[in-house]
Formats: sequence, C-alpha cells, structure tokens
Amino acid sequence: MSNIIGHHIGGKRVAGTSGQTGPIFNPATGEQTGEVALASASEVQVAVDAAREAQASWANTAVIRRARTMFRLKELIEANMDEMAKLVTAEHGKTLDDAKGSITRGLEVVEFACGIPQLLKGEFSHNVGTGVDLVSVRHPVGIAAGITPFNFPVMVPLWMAPIAIACGNAFILKPSEKDPSSGMMLADLALEAGIPAGIFQVVNGNKTAVDAILNNPDIAAVSFVGSTPIAEYIYHTGTAAGKRVQALGGAKNHMVVMPDADLDMAVDALMGAAYGSAGERCMAVSVAVPVGEETADALIDKLAPRIRQLRIGPGTEAGAEMGPLVTGEHLAKVRGYVDTGVSEGAKLVVDGRDFRMQGYENGFFIGGCLFDQVTEDMRIYKEEIFGPVLSVVRKPDYKSAVDIINSHEFGNGTAIFTRDGDAARSFSNEVNIGMVGINVPIPVPMAFHSFGGWKRSLFGDHHTHGMEGVRFYTKQKAITSRWPTGIKAGAEFKMPTMG
Ligand code: NAD
Repeated sequence: MSNIIGHHIGGKRVAGTSGQTGPIFNPATGEQTGEVALASASEVQVAVDAAREAQASWANTAVIRRARTMFRLKELIEANMDEMAKLVTAEHGKTLDDAKGSITRGLEVVEFACGIPQLLKGEFSHNVGTGVDLVSVRHPVGIAAGITPFNFPVMVPLWMAPIAIACGNAFILKPSEKDPSSGMMLADLALEAGIPAGIFQVVNGNKTAVDAILNNPDIAAVSFVGSTPIAEYIYHTGTAAGKRVQALGGAKNHMVVMPDADLDMAVDALMGAAYGSAGERCMAVSVAVPVGEETADALIDKLAPRIRQLRIGPGTEAGAEMGPLVTGEHLAKVRGYVDTGVSEGAKLVVDGRDFRMQGYENGFFIGGCLFDQVTEDMRIYKEEIFGPVLSVVRKPDYKSAVDIINSHEFGNGTAIFTRDGDAARSFSNEVNIGMVGINVPIPVPMAFHSFGGWKRSLFGDHHTHGMEGVRFYTKQKAITSRWPTGIKAGAEFKMPTMG
C-alpha cells in the first residue's frame, strides 16, 4: 500500500521504522485507503529527545511571542478548515458539516490560548512583611503527551495541545490509529505557524507507543481521552510512574424529559444528540428518560418516524445527517448490542440493523435504532454502545429519573428538558454529573470553561481546557523576596512569621 502515514518528529514528517502498520479505512466505502505506522518504543524516544532539545528555549521565549504563534495557528486552521474536514470525513466517516463543527470547537481552544499572557500572569502580594514581597508564578511542566480517541481526531488534540504549548511545554500527540491524518496536518500547520520543531510532534501507534509514553521518565504529564477501561489503565500506570495524568473516559448520557417540556424541542434535541455523528460522541445522548407514561408515549410517537426518516449517507454527501460508523469491527459491535437488547427483552421500536446504503454496500452503515421499555439491569443500559442507538427508560417521577442518573457508573453529561425553573435548578444541583444541560442536549462547555465528567468518566483531578488546562500543564512556584533595606530583623530561630 503506497499511502503510509508515518510520524511528525523534529519538525518533519518521517517514515516509521518499526515495520509495523495498521490499516486505515474509508468508512463510507469500506475500502482500506492506507496504513499508519505503529511506533516502537525507540521511535517514541526519538520524539522525546527532540522535545527535550527544544523545550527549554521555548519556555524562555517571550510569552507574547508564544501567543502570536497561536494567533497564526488559528488563522491557518481557519484557512485549511475545508481540507482538514475532508480528512476527518475520509477516515472517521462523519459528515463534512459535523467535521467542520468539531474543528471549530477545537479552534476555540486555540483562541483561548491566544490569551496566554493574561492567563499566566500569576499572583503578586506587596509587603507580605515589611519590605517583603510574594509572587506566585506558573512554570511549564516540561514535556506533555496527549493520547486521543478516534471520534474527534482534531477537536480532542486541540483540547490539549494549544494550552500545553502556549504554557511553554513541548507536546507529543499519539492520535487514534483509526484516523491519524488530520493530526499530522495539525503538526504541519503548527510548524507553519512558527511553533519550533520539537514542540508539537505526532507519534502514531497503538499500545506499544502508549506504554512507551507512560514509562518515559522525561514525560511529565499525560492527557488521555478514550474509553473507560483504557483511561483507568492510563491513569494508574502514568501516576505510578510519577506523572500528572488526566484521563477522560466513556459515558452514558441521560436526557430527562419532564411532562411540561416543549416536546418538539426535546425531539429535535434527541435527534441531533443521539444520531449526530452516528452516536460516536462521548456527549451523545444514549438514554432518554421521559417522566410519566403519557410523556413517554408522546415522545416515542414523535421520535420513531423521525428516526426512520434520518438522511443517512456518506459524509461527503450534501444534506446527509448521519454517516457510517468508523470501522467494520465497530459496526459489528453496535449491531451486536442491538441483538443483545432484543434478547434482553427491550422493545425495538426502530430497527436499523439491516440498513444498506445503495451504492455503498460495503460501507460501515447502520440505521438509527430506538429501544423502548429499557430497564437498568440490561447491558444495553449499563454499557456504552457508541452508536446510533437510543434507549428509552420510562420513569414515573422526577426523583426516580434523577436516581438512575446518579446510580450509573458514568458521569459525563446529562440534560433535562422542562419549562419549570424549580425542577431545572434542583436537577443541576442534585445530579452527580460533570456537565449539565438545561434544555441543551449536548452541554459541551466553551473553551474558556473546562470539560470533564465525574465518576468513571474521568480519572484525575483536572478537567480539560479552560483554566483547568492551564493548571494541568503548569506547576506553581511561590517566590518570597526581601532586599537589604537597612531594616535588620536579626537571626530568627522560631518559625518565621511576617506579621
Ligand atoms: P480507545 O480507548 O479504544 O482509544 C483511545 C486511545 O487509546 C487511542 O489513541 C488508542 O490507540 C489507545 N489505546 C487503545 N487501546 C489501548 C491499550 N490497550 N493500551 C493503551 N492504549 C490503548 O477509545 P476510542 O474507541 O478511540 O474512542 C471512543 C471512546 O472514547 C468512547 O468510550 C468515548 O466515550 C470516549 N471519549 C471520551 C471523551 C470524553 O471527553 N470523556 C471524548 C471523546 C471520546
């Protein structure tokens, strides 16, 4: 195969040397379109050496100059948006519109990082003692790595890299091996923006590369986004090796529909949130919780025909609302979950399993699926399916709706649809979930706030981007200073106090 994606190390694209590769598919056609090099531990080490070489002088580069590279990166991503979106669609399968939307959400983090001089200003106290000043500053951690999932090959790397780099770190990206091309393009653009060689690198690979990152003593911080079992592994292995780790995991996001909700608004919200990106979003709504039988019946009546009419097509087709799943393996897994739901006794109201896309018969397509009468003991309720499958769990009242959300192992996002301010406020106060929407189905915070779940949706202390990102990629130093002024305190043998 002639199209082999290598790595981006030391300021250039380089071929892999391990001899190992993985396949890249076009999900719409099902064809293998290329291969990606899978790095060995020694290739990771080459990137770490280049990072170490470059990082100290980058950290000493004037903060305003570092900020200017972010302004240029922003312009370059904007100028290359269409091309980048095409790469995302070609390897992930999502629609071009959706790809552009997700790149725009990543771009917002670059915009946030343009303000790095303000964000890193630190704290200063004058005269904490007579003639004594105290300043707290934030230093970069050194070398940070980001290990990212297939579902947002540009947005998730951009949750991490702009802030890490603007703070003065070197950053090594290990993208998903399923869709590596857009991450490579980001590294090209970073270089063009004036970010020095060695400061934004890409090492492609699988578990071997990840383990080499986790065991490398020169990497100080690891950001991970992916499934919960791997997030847990990354967190425990990375922290045991003395690293700072934030590991964001999987999700099962519930949307409560109260009897007083605007039902059409709730149905529109569910269509986008459950079936957009074919359900391959960590903030996808995968469980609808209508309160009361009447609400549930009305919701299903309105939803089912809309799901049957979903415009499914290759991501490049104008007007397509939903593209294929990412790989044949993932398609088989999602179909398998629908089979499981049927055998568990849930009522399959809309069955998308046999959907075939005309002209794209080998593509990884599945139609939208809707289950009613789902209960908490079922695997389709407990586990993350990561496909266009919505489960309806009927609840008699508000309290039991909140209870199931709070009992679920995941805690990424949730939403309530209601006209009642009291219910909405109680809900946002009572749910143990990291991101909450009130009549907003996918409450992904803006770049200047931070993104992250609770419970088994996040391992670590820091959420990603916003001020949490700045804190994650920096360590604090407090400097207390006194200058000879003629005031002689004499030798002090008790614990010094300033007052
Ligand atoms: P994944 O966990 O399979 O892979 C994520 C990364 O980990 C990839 O770079 C992959 O190469 C690496 N990896 C895979 N197996 C590994 C192993 N055994 N050891 C070490 N590294 C390994 O996830 P995915 O399928 O690419 O992405 C989908 C998942 O990501 C879903 O669970 C989704 O909810 C989650 N996700 C979470 C968020 C969030 O913000 N919480 C955002 C996006 C995606």
